[in-house]
Amino acid sequence: MAAFDNTNFLDYAPAPESTTILHLKKSYGLFINGEFVPGHGASFLTVSPSTETTIAEIANANATDVDLAVAAARGAYDRTWSKLSGADRGKYLFRIARLVQERARELAVAESLDNGKPIKESRDVDIPLVAAWFFYYAGWADKLDYAGIGPNPRALGVAAQVIPWNFPLLMLAWKIAPALAAGNTVVLKPAETTPLTALIFAEILQQAELPAGVVNIITGAGETGHALVNHPDVNKVAFTGSTAVGRAIARSTAGSGKKLTLELGGKAANIVFDDAPIDEAIEGIVNGIFFNQGHVCCAGSRLLVQENVHDEVVGRLKRRLSTLRLGDPLDKNTDIGAINSREQLDRIRELSDIGEAEGAERWTAPCVIPDKGFWFAPTIFDNVSTSHRIAREEVFGPVLSVLTFRTPAEAIAKANNTPYGLSAGIWSDKGSRILAVADQLKAGVIWANTFNRFDPASPFGGYKESGYGREGGRHGLAAYLESTGWSAAK
Ligand code: NAD
Repeated sequence: MAAFDNTNFLDYAPAPESTTILHLKKSYGLFINGEFVPGHGASFLTVSPSTETTIAEIANANATDVDLAVAAARGAYDRTWSKLSGADRGKYLFRIARLVQERARELAVAESLDNGKPIKESRDVDIPLVAAWFFYYAGWADKLDYAGIGPNPRALGVAAQVIPWNFPLLMLAWKIAPALAAGNTVVLKPAETTPLTALIFAEILQQAELPAGVVNIITGAGETGHALVNHPDVNKVAFTGSTAVGRAIARSTAGSGKKLTLELGGKAANIVFDDAPIDEAIEGIVNGIFFNQGHVCCAGSRLLVQENVHDEVVGRLKRRLSTLRLGDPLDKNTDIGAINSREQLDRIRELSDIGEAEGAERWTAPCVIPDKGFWFAPTIFDNVSTSHRIAREEVFGPVLSVLTFRTPAEAIAKANNTPYGLSAGIWSDKGSRILAVADQLKAGVIWANTFNRFDPASPFGGYKESGYGREGGRHGLAAYLESTGWSAAK
């Protein structure tokens, strides 16, 4: 009997999601006072990072546009939003949540097209969480007395919000939902490489008949963000992005009376003890660092593995990574999509080359890299030491550093040996060990036998250079409210 060649037997056929659901415009204006208007700056293009083709022309907000947007938000705050009851604000938020659900497929396709993330992630994670965030905070809008910061807490006024490109619509939801529930009006600036879903969201706000000016969306790069956060008529600044920009914003807003929350970078330890369920841990490590191409602030980018299981864990991990499919973000079978921009790809390459030069052992998953677009195959660095730059700096890409430890005390010391403190993971069969270790980790979020789980009811935020303030849960409301006295919030 002839031998059966099964080399390609289990290959997946292409399963691209159709883009016909999108009704994109050739060019987008700024969303100010409920309408799309032209910007005064020189417009720019947003491109698909997987093909490098242009998606749309985007308006660029200069200082004049920032003035107009802040004035619109102030006017809406004074005239309408601050006069509505919490129950009425909640109705708008519920309406927005339902419209996000209705247009979920369109939003997922737009997000994958503009950001490069696999459609199965935008479809199954990002967009459902966006809707969940609006539903969750819709429920809080008429219950602010119970948020734990005293009776009758007051809104702050106009919130300036600046977000990054890794979860464009989800970061928008994290910012806008609690701000509106608490009674503030908003001017939000998405990242310059991923403005698309924020602009489709503006159409959803029109559909929801949100009063004009309550949410304004202005596009542009760092200069636009700088003008927005430093505008004198802004009461609150919420920033998610790099530690360097966060630090500059903290300096420039100091003494201005603006309330500030910063969600910045991370370098999370994912700690695997020798009694961990190894199969689950492998999936958790993969999800921890290769989800969203590693463009995740809380990514488990440092694997701390107990020395006696190191070879088994790393061996299995390499086998698992060899099965991941890299390619078209719109293909439903894709596991690893495109890197969001050429600049980010250059940074990942540079830090990886430094890792190699510093003596870490580099392994790259065997992937075929497409000719066009920005791509980086899943990569592991073994034999990394805590002094290596790849163990200290945020790579923000699909690159895992592997370090070993012998005792829980050594794991804790190495995990905390970082300027950041956003998240961590612990894998062990023993609940008592998990609790004891978690207690000593300096990280805002700690996952046990899982990783990268999010829920709107759960507060999220960091220690040290990962920023301050919390998003999510009732804690996330405190960032948008002025306490009127007695406080139970911790
Ligand atoms: P970035 O700081 O370069 O940009 C973030 C946003 O800030 C963009 O919209 C950008 O246009 C704007 N910006 C740039 N310069 C500015 C300035 N001087 N003033 C005001 N705004 C300015 O960061 P990035 O490269 O877009 O995002 C990646 C970073 O974001 C990573 O460090 C990541 O860890 C972090 N991040 C953190 C969280 C969190 O919740 N902690 C979530 C997602 C991303």
